[in-house]
Amino acid sequence: MASTAHTPTTLEWETPLFAQAMTQLEHALELATVPDLVSTRLRAPERALILSLPVQMDDGSFRSFPAYRVQHSSVLGPTKGGVRYDPAVDLGECAALAMWMTWKCALLKLPYGGAKGGVRCDARALSHNELVRVTRRFTAELAPFIGPQLDIPAPDMATNEQTMAWMMDTYSMQKGYAVPEIVTGKPISIGGSVFRHEATGAGVIMVVERACHRLGWDLAEQRCIVQGFGNVGGIAASELHEKGAKVIAVSDISGGVYCEAGLPIPDLHAYVAEHGSLEGYDTDVGRITNEQLLESPCDVLVLAAREDQVTGANAPNLQCRLLAEGANGPTSVDADAILAERGIPVLPDILTNAGGVTVSYFEWVQDLGRLFWDRDEIRRRLADKMSDAFDRVWDVSAAKGCTLRDAALVAAIKEVSAALEARGIYP
Ligand code: NAD
Repeated sequence: MASTAHTPTTLEWETPLFAQAMTQLEHALELATVPDLVSTRLRAPERALILSLPVQMDDGSFRSFPAYRVQHSSVLGPTKGGVRYDPAVDLGECAALAMWMTWKCALLKLPYGGAKGGVRCDARALSHNELVRVTRRFTAELAPFIGPQLDIPAPDMATNEQTMAWMMDTYSMQKGYAVPEIVTGKPISIGGSVFRHEATGAGVIMVVERACHRLGWDLAEQRCIVQGFGNVGGIAASELHEKGAKVIAVSDISGGVYCEAGLPIPDLHAYVAEHGSLEGYDTDVGRITNEQLLESPCDVLVLAAREDQVTGANAPNLQCRLLAEGANGPTSVDADAILAERGIPVLPDILTNAGGVTVSYFEWVQDLGRLFWDRDEIRRRLADKMSDAFDRVWDVSAAKGCTLRDAALVAAIKEVSAALEARGIYP
């Protein structure tokens, strides 16, 4: 009897962003040489949830918001990853971001696997009370699948300390006692960590500074551009400014501002705090579009907005000497190849923006131990972790003659593979 061939079907998470994560993985697997069963386990997430959140709006009507949570790998420990509120969130985006979180945690030698989640909504169009209800409903629907030893959410795009406080409170209400270790990135008053707010942006600049050092450049002499002026980009711009580098352009979703002599970063923060975005800021600066910003001449370009910003279409036009990925997945696979060909080093996301999850890990450890560290201690521990990871990536890249992204992925995959093999959880 003829055997029936297995016909693979397209799974819900197989979207272009997931394809980008897979292409990167397949490329790194060629260099990492891990057993087949390890690569089979790592190619797909362990668990992918699709939820619907019925929420009453301020006008009394009801809306149902699609929501997602993907847990990619629990081999090294509980899964960890952000929650984003964005109109474009889908299962594939969460799956790609969850996979990148696995590599990021492994590269930084944190005892976590990767997760990511989100609610498909436009947070800017929701009122404060609607955001409270969306967040509480999301947490309640997610409660069976998260936990301090299972999966620990954190802030991401359009979510913040307040969102985490609502999540922590909703989860704690169900348990009957305070569970601060259920989320990270919460306010300090309920068990958050000092320096968590600044950690991702500060970590980005720690990596940029170390790369400059290896390249023989002085960071203070560099002209820098930052795309995205939220948590990551805003802090990265401030760190650059404080270290004496010239930040000549920044942008957010409303567009960019440009000043060859260097932008007044503290003024921009004050403006955004008052007006909600950079829209309308034109005091002594020029306005540019996000497209122009990416292609403007500079030494260091920090991408800190969102995925898929540098593509095969604009990579040939970039005029930076070093590109730092503060956002997750901002550079497409085609763009990577073009930038490598052009000799522009790309500091990869899984290394460069890992400061956030690293201080999230410190926050979780402090919550579990009910013992809190001071800012200097956390900044020092973060700098040690980022430097150690940077040096390992730089050295693998030099030894194998591969890109920094491939080197970071190889180092991360080997960590997960070693754990999988040691646990012997495959036949
Ligand atoms: P955020 O919402 O605080 O800020 C995002 C910024 O990007 C805002 O200024 C927004 O206006 C801008 N933006 C959005 N779309 C844009 C576009 N198309 N063009 C230009 N600007 C645009 O989010 P965040 O927490 O700073 O996250 C930014 C990126 O960093 C995301 O990719 C996120 O996954 C990644 N990241 C965040 C953290 C963290 O700790 N927050 C950690 C690691 C990685």
